Amino acid sequence: MAKAASIDLFNPSAEHLALREMVRSFAEREVEPQAAEHDRSETFNAPLFRKLGELGLLGITVPERWGGAGMDAVAAVIAHEELAAVDPGFTLAYLAHAMLFANNLAVNGDDAQRARYLPPACDGRAICGMAMSEPAVGTDVLGMQTRARPDGDGWVLDGAKMWITNGCISKTELGDAFLVYARTADGPKGLSLFIVEKGMPGFALGQKLEDKLGMRASPTAELVFDGCRVPGENLVGKTGGAVGHMMRNLEIERLTLAAMSLGIARRAIEVMNAYARERQAFGRPLNDFGQIQRHIAESYAAWMAGRAYVYLTAARLDLGRAGNRIDSDGVKLFCSTMAKNVADSAIQVLGGYGYVGEYRVERLWRDAKLIEIGGGTIEAHQKNMARDLSQLDRLK
Ligand SMILES: Cc1cc2nc3c(=O)[nH]c(=O)nc-3n(C[C@H](O)[C@H](O)[C@H](O)COP(=O)(O)OP(=O)(O)OC[C@H]3O[C@@H](n4cnc5c(N)ncnc54)[C@H](O)[C@@H]3O)c2cc1C
Repeated sequence: MAKAASIDLFNPSAEHLALREMVRSFAEREVEPQAAEHDRSETFNAPLFRKLGELGLLGITVPERWGGAGMDAVAAVIAHEELAAVDPGFTLAYLAHAMLFANNLAVNGDDAQRARYLPPACDGRAICGMAMSEPAVGTDVLGMQTRARPDGDGWVLDGAKMWITNGCISKTELGDAFLVYARTADGPKGLSLFIVEKGMPGFALGQKLEDKLGMRASPTAELVFDGCRVPGENLVGKTGGAVGHMMRNLEIERLTLAAMSLGIARRAIEVMNAYARERQAFGRPLNDFGQIQRHIAESYAAWMAGRAYVYLTAARLDLGRAGNRIDSDGVKLFCSTMAKNVADSAIQVLGGYGYVGEYRVERLWRDAKLIEIGGGTIEAHQKNMARDLSQLDRLK
């Protein structure tokens, strides 16, 4: 058999490699220096976020005619992996904007909606997000209670959304535009999707959620809809069609959250590896001890296994269609816990120095934990995957 030309699963084309180098250099130069401070102060760096627009990252998967970079799921994975290696909190805000809002609207919206909302989202004038979860409903998303009723040629929304990334950009200021899921009839076919903008009457910031364990550089908010009037043209797709939109977008959401886990794990491995080489105990470097070698070697192998699974799934993912649910759940199920465990190993290898901020690993551990919860809990992934796998007799 002829030998295959060299295959780089992680950089399948020259464009992907150039993107990785560009994002890594920006991340190290501009994102890294501000990360610890924004984690400590629990503040969102909006000016730096807007700069991602100049780099073409805010609309990375949005077609060029709407102001985006027109790239694929592999490119989205590369951007999230590289940014999360230096600042997972900042990267979560990026994901909510670029994947949950911009990609979602590019795939599910109509041309008038794309023309109005995507150019400012892609160049950084607008900071956006997606609102699905509610105070009383998360995993059981079809049980959501926010309602939308027709009123004249528009809609009126009543209810509240919880945990919304980019819901605010400071303690008092709302984000700019959101894709909001709401109930227009009873049952699973009764969910619809709306674009709600800052300034629409009846739309308000409930509260900025503070005191998060991790991802503190990303703003999280409760949003309130009190007789909120939304024009008819802001309904995305058909009335009752939102479950399909949700399913399509959840795949890229979970894939890019898994990509963030890869960035977190890589950074934690680099830190523990360097530390174990330099630090001496009993007259020998730490990496001479078998128990330390186990932390380093098992972390590396788990990270590489996750990496291969994520990049394979990304290569197979078509942004316009659902159909990769087992693996988009699977990569997040595996990588979220992998990254948390790798960050935990890094703390252990560094001993007391791992438990304080200087070497970053305690922040990586706190940030990694969110990925077991947000975008679907690991229990939800287990449930979905077992249900989908039960339909199959053989695995390809
Ligand atoms: C920092 C942060 C940012 C977020 N950003 C967003 C955002 O931008 N937009 C958005 O819409 N949401 C967002 N979320 C919400 C997130 O998606 C939800 O927190 C998540 O889906 C879980 O929902 P819940 O918190 O209501 O927990 P629940 O659904 O109440 O779950 C509580 C526990 O019960 C378990 N559980 C529930 N049902 C089952 C079951 N059937 N079988 C087994 N176990 C079960 C869960 O796995 C979990 O362990 C964010 C959350 C956080 C913390």
